[in-house]
Amino acid sequence: MAKSSEKPKFSLRLLIDEEKNRVILAEAGKDFVDVLCSLLTLPMGTIVRLLEKHQNPQSSVVGCLHNLYKSVADMDVDNFESQACKHFLLHPRSAKGSHGRDLKLNIDDTGATKFFVCPNFVSTEACRKLFSNVSTMKCRCGSSMHREIPVEEQQADGVFPSCRTSFVITDDLKVALNSMGLVMNVLNDFGYSGFDKLQEMLIDVGFEEILTLLGCLFTSEAPLTDTFLRKHCMSRKRKMLTPLVQESSVAGAADNLLTLKVYVRKTDRAVLYAECREEFVDFLFTFLAIPIEFAWELSIDIGNMGCVGNLCRSVKDLSFEKQKAATVSQCMLPYFYNGRAQPLDVVIQESPKYECLVTHYGHNMLCKKINKAVLSNGEIIAKFTSASASIGLVKGETNFILSDDLVVTPMNSSSTISLLSKLQMNIGDIEEQVISIGKAEATSLLRASLITTSALTNGLSNFLSKMDPDEVTQSTPKIQKSDKPNEAWQLL
Ligand SMILES: [Zn+2]
Repeated sequence: MAKSSEKPKFSLRLLIDEEKNRVILAEAGKDFVDVLCSLLTLPMGTIVRLLEKHQNPQSSVVGCLHNLYKSVADMDVDNFESQACKHFLLHPRSAKGSHGRDLKLNIDDTGATKFFVCPNFVSTEACRKLFSNVSTMKCRCGSSMHREIPVEEQQADGVFPSCRTSFVITDDLKVALNSMGLVMNVLNDFGYSGFDKLQEMLIDVGFEEILTLLGCLFTSEAPLTDTFLRKHCMSRKRKMLTPLVQESSVAGAADNLLTLKVYVRKTDRAVLYAECREEFVDFLFTFLAIPIEFAWELSIDIGNMGCVGNLCRSVKDLSFEKQKAATVSQCMLPYFYNGRAQPLDVVIQESPKYECLVTHYGHNMLCKKINKAVLSNGEIIAKFTSASASIGLVKGETNFILSDDLVVTPMNSSSTISLLSKLQMNIGDIEEQVISIGKAEATSLLRASLITTSALTNGLSNFLSKMDPDEVTQSTPKIQKSDKPNEAWQLL
């Protein structure tokens, strides 16, 4: 790829054991550590997109999220509240989006969020009320809002280590400030008494290596060895999902916000399919917008998400030295991810309001506040609100079908008959249950979707009620009673 070879490279010093073909540690400057930290700020949907381009599309590095991403891509835009909803799920932005800009190597190709207004906004009053973040939105005058307008620079709140020192990175991605004592400790832990069995290696790190490292972050216990010595990301067999989140560790679990109807195979309690409404799909789709650092944090310290945990903890420790405030952060998503319900601790930013000094001479710009007491002739201060903000991501009044590995399909474009017949199962072996999704269930589902390919089964099996033969026979006729799936849902 010619394009990637033009991208900047920097060097990394590795200490390796050639005989065992493994990296013991790496010594790196701030540039490399910045890039490493920046990976944690990438939304999960961006990671899926980058990795699909980079490696075998069949590989499921991040659990079921590639299916979730593909569901959004495959779903007709008519199923979304607006074109912006679909666009920003496929090209997710994080609330601290300006981060990547100063990086020596930025693998996120999403770019800054753009702002568009109606081309008639200077001449027509009705056209200076709304801005859009996609160029395809229609203005109320009928034209598409495709005139890009600059917006005043937002402040980037950096959490990356600012120290101009060098760092030591272990093979499992623990990052710390460089010191002789630390290097001696790492060698000791590996059982080396000196350097006689070890070799130094200076390597070039570029775009391709960082992408491989990104994949290894999720799948490998030794990402540096896999990236730089084996040159690929191992798709190893995953360990079993650790038993679910303790109820006590999820405070406020009582408020159930969403319901999900699941179809369970009685023999092994596997969840085959689920049916849900738009609220639940809104919630599920926001997984794509959540940056890794928060996906890890919201999942309550998943042990087997590769080395994501080590890197997250290191970044916290390093930024702690800089400012305490950086460690108490909450997952905040931009206003265009305003779903109907959010059982996780995720805050949606308020839709911004902008002012614009409209003149006939151009140079119009969106600003938080125009400070101009006296307006010159022909100048107007217009107030803009977002046309991209909507309550809900997918259209309302829609039923959806979910598969165990999180393929989401609107009920109107899928056939329940063919799904059921594909299962080739005795209908008597399938049980129907309704689960209320509160914080505990949502957390569990997020965890399972990140690290397994059976998100519904792994994430929700602890919340299924025990099999009761009477209930099973009672619930079955309910499906048969009503003609429309809508009514069947409302009966419950
Ligand atoms: Zn207009």
